[in-house]
Amino acid sequence: MSGLGKGITAASTGRLLANAGFSVTAVKIDPYLNVDAGTMNPYQHGEVYVLKDGAEVDLDLGNYERFLGTDMTADHNVTTGKAYKHVIEKERSGDYLGDTVQIIPHITDDIKRRIREAAEGTDVCLVEVGGTVGDIEGMPFLEAIRQFVHETPDEDLLLAHVTLVPYSKNGEQKTKPTQHSVKELRSIGLQPDILVGRSAEELDPDTKEKIALFCDVPTEAVFSNPDVPDIYHVPLTIEAEGLDRYVIDRLDLAGEAPPRTERTERWRELVTRETDEQVEIALVGKYALEDAYISIHEALKHAGLDRGVDVNVNWVDADRMDDAHERRLREADGVVVPGGFGSRGAGGKIEAIRYAREHEVPFLGLCLGFQLGVVEFARDVLGLAGAHSAEIDSATPHPVIGLLPEQADEEDLGGTMRLGAHETEIDPDSLASAIYGGTSCTERHRHRYEVAPEYIADLEAAGLRFSGRSGRRMEILELPTHPYFLGTQFHPEFRSRPDRASPPFVGLLDAALEHEHRNRDRDIGSDSERDTDANGDRSTSTPTGPTEPTGTAEPTESL
Ligand code: GLN
Repeated sequence: MSGLGKGITAASTGRLLANAGFSVTAVKIDPYLNVDAGTMNPYQHGEVYVLKDGAEVDLDLGNYERFLGTDMTADHNVTTGKAYKHVIEKERSGDYLGDTVQIIPHITDDIKRRIREAAEGTDVCLVEVGGTVGDIEGMPFLEAIRQFVHETPDEDLLLAHVTLVPYSKNGEQKTKPTQHSVKELRSIGLQPDILVGRSAEELDPDTKEKIALFCDVPTEAVFSNPDVPDIYHVPLTIEAEGLDRYVIDRLDLAGEAPPRTERTERWRELVTRETDEQVEIALVGKYALEDAYISIHEALKHAGLDRGVDVNVNWVDADRMDDAHERRLREADGVVVPGGFGSRGAGGKIEAIRYAREHEVPFLGLCLGFQLGVVEFARDVLGLAGAHSAEIDSATPHPVIGLLPEQADEEDLGGTMRLGAHETEIDPDSLASAIYGGTSCTERHRHRYEVAPEYIADLEAAGLRFSGRSGRRMEILELPTHPYFLGTQFHPEFRSRPDRASPPFVGLLDAALEHEHRNRDRDIGSDSERDTDANGDRSTSTPTGPTEPTGTAEPTESL
């Protein structure tokens, strides 16, 4: 069943295998007809994740990269669309020499080839089949896996099935859904070796035994995967349950199970560290769906792990900035304006950027957030009324963001997209060089529009600094008069890892922490002033100060 956590279960197991010294990679299978995730709406599938080779892929690949600490490529996301496209292209060019081209064996062969190629050169390859057992879409993939089992020696392949273990009203764990999905799997010739039960609490020993008996696996091959406070705790559960050791044993990877590794200890320390520090970050976007900005959430979390700070991310709706949302912006210690396409919410994002700039609230603009940072500055500081991005307002008198002349002639929209890892040169003595600790960085891109070259000199003369460039393209902006105002044309969130936080996010967090301390000190200062001097004329409601608790305050909506 989708959304159950099989990706996190697989990735966490992979992390432990990597910790034990094995090289691990992953393949995510998405049984939809789209060739890749590039054209998919974030409301349906969440964020489009970008790999270093420029592939636009399912967000689960982001989880694999974050857990495994490896970089993957387009070949690690297999979709129905990709397999069919390739087979049909081969058919059109006559490669099948007159054969009837069919799902079995041609599509299934193509699927197996893709898995083998992605696994090449590694000790272990995790293959996650998305979707639900029994769905028509998933059938060719499950058939390919059945053939794989048939063709592969027992000690080289394990099938794991992640199932939901719900509770009855009287609190009893129910194994029926597991029994039925295993029955469904067996009807297509697949017998799982391992069962992982997703449930609110650990599986009772009785539940494990029942599952083992009805699903024909040893009891020690049934594992609990209960809810945990954070996804990065799942490897710790997997280790406690012994799933990694079971895999190592069954795949005959080592003579004996390796002891708990130092790397797993470091992971444990990192993800379970307690802290009293907390900052509030406003994320001003247009999708009220956490998955649409998952890499940003994770990058903020990684920065928090790095600095020992809890980061609360508060969703601010750029499209409908009502009082509650405005209050979240005012109460924020830092503001993030994420990437995006199209005009919806652009006005709210520009307002949020102006607020952060004028009130010295730490700001990080990503891609569209960077571009709108330029727009806001052009309008308000440079005085270019109506300045905008040509993507959003094609009739603007000042298209400060537009297509470069060489892009404008391109008719195929896909052809103008700049994707994947590119290097940025960073000016020494800039905020960017301080946070990156050097004069270059390589980050991933996914955009079409650029800062228009004819406005750069005026923008810089008015105080905006483009401290990172890639040839004629502006990549990083900063505002030297502001405590932390940084925009990046690229998406640093895609390279952030739990144990390697992304510099722009760590920089934002440091600045947000200072902002929080400043506010706290000022509140304490103004409180004592009020106590001693009731007639003092000092304003007690400053723009960036937290608003009075009203008791009716809307609970912070965590995205
Ligand atoms: N829509 C903008 C562009 O295409 C920004 C893209 C993004 O934020 N990913 O340039």
